[in-house]
Amino acid sequence: MARILITGGAGFIGSHLCERFLEDGDDVICMDNFRTSTPDNIAHLFANRRFMFIEQDVTTYIYVKGPVDAILHFASPASPVDYQELPIPTLKVGSLGTHKALGLAKEKNARFLLASTSEVYGDPLVHPQNEEYWGNVNPIGPRGVYDEAKRFAEALTMAYHRAHGVETRIVRIFNTHGPRMRLNDGRVVPNFVSQVLGGEPVTVYGDGSQTRSFCYVADLVEGIVRLLRSDYTGPVNCGNPQEVTILEFARTIIRLAGSKSAVVFRPLPEDDPKVRQPDITRARKLLGWEPRIGLEDGLRRTIQFFRDKLQPA
Ligand code: UDP
Repeated sequence: MARILITGGAGFIGSHLCERFLEDGDDVICMDNFRTSTPDNIAHLFANRRFMFIEQDVTTYIYVKGPVDAILHFASPASPVDYQELPIPTLKVGSLGTHKALGLAKEKNARFLLASTSEVYGDPLVHPQNEEYWGNVNPIGPRGVYDEAKRFAEALTMAYHRAHGVETRIVRIFNTHGPRMRLNDGRVVPNFVSQVLGGEPVTVYGDGSQTRSFCYVADLVEGIVRLLRSDYTGPVNCGNPQEVTILEFARTIIRLAGSKSAVVFRPLPEDDPKVRQPDITRARKLLGWEPRIGLEDGLRRTIQFFRDKLQPA
């Protein structure tokens, strides 16, 4: 049993982590400012006496009373639409927020896990992406605010490990989907699913030949928990290696939802990565982890979540 602080704990992935640690018998302190998240994601947890919530922006000084055994730093806008609307908060939470969270980890002698991202690889020239690859990021492009904040966060995490001996972990998260994604966060899964359920055309950006690899959130959470409990300090990719083009992805969602939506093409956003697929050899070897839920199986569950949200019984 441990006492665990999750920044961004009311977010999509953060709320699933809160739930998981509570299920495992740990005490959870969830910290969030609801900038891109919602209290709805954690409303059901308040009844649990081992759950505590602190409404706070992690870029300011953070203080938590009592012992803390682990800090999982998940606070950040994470969708390209969000971080382009919130460029400075995104840079601040990755830099100042990571600094505050690491400072707290040092003070409390807590283990620290950073939520990093496949975006550190940018528009990758190595495919699939393994953790040895240093990436191809445009620092001044529209995605630079997120990519560079996360790269800085990784550098700061390693610096606290090397200079202060903080026990640190870095997970590089690839595209993930599941319940509690925000319907209007602008990412491909909420966009496509809300379009097909609303009988609207599905907006494929570019010609749809760009690829992504989608992991179901329950698989990701299992990988993160295993990484936290491991003794490995280097970065570890977590994602589902099953790669699809965005056009195939649109057609799959239309089919699974039993929809007649058409596909329409829209301009490709600037610096949109052309390919993305995690090489998960490291996670397999070190953590004995790989995703268990296939693309279609996971998508069925995500579609059901959005259906319930849009068309409550
Ligand atoms: N995309 C799309 N239509 C949409 C939203 C996104 O074709 O309505 C594409 C986007 O251009 C990208 C991929 O889907 O190639 C994944 O986009 P997302 O915003 O989910 O995140 P990313 O993987 O780019 O960080």
